[in-house]
Amino acid sequence: MNGHVSQTSRPGTRLTRDDGAPCVTMASREGSPVSASEDGCLFCGIVAGDVPSEIVHTTERTVAFRDVNAQAPTHVLVVPKDHYSNAAELAAGDPAGLAELVATAQAVAAAEGHDDYRLVFNTGAGAGQTVFHTHLHVLAGRPMTWPPG
Ligand code: 5GP
Ligand code: ZN
Repeated sequence: MNGHVSQTSRPGTRLTRDDGAPCVTMASREGSPVSASEDGCLFCGIVAGDVPSEIVHTTERTVAFRDVNAQAPTHVLVVPKDHYSNAAELAAGDPAGLAELVATAQAVAAAEGHDDYRLVFNTGAGAGQTVFHTHLHVLAGRPMTWPPG
């Protein structure tokens, strides 16, 4: 488990918000979150619509919104609706969700007219991760150098 349990629920059940609206369905595999969202998580807040953002695309499992501090003409973050703290946890708990993240990134790049783009998962503070809700950076619209800084 990932230690983000803020509510208890049997896997496969649905949680209900305070206002009675259903939260997302709980997954049941090892590595999946018991709670779909984590209190105080910025990107859970964006997914829930509690934190404003410029959303450019949504799918069943993902939300894509513009990075507030864009590093390229196109800089979009694609996140799973469920809370996983990094890409590896998402891969373990919801492999199809990870695939959907990449497919959404491709759709976002294409919608903005880019055949070429860079996808980045910063994993761990030492690698530059500052928000611990899995997010795939989609960067495009300028030349990309290598190695990255
Ligand atoms: P990380 O450094 O964790 O890989 O990426 C986090 C990203 O989230 C950063 O690029 C940062 O600019 C972006 N970010 C931080 N706070 C907000 C916010 O409130 N709204 C949006 N749209 N992006 C944010
Ligand atoms: Zn979250």
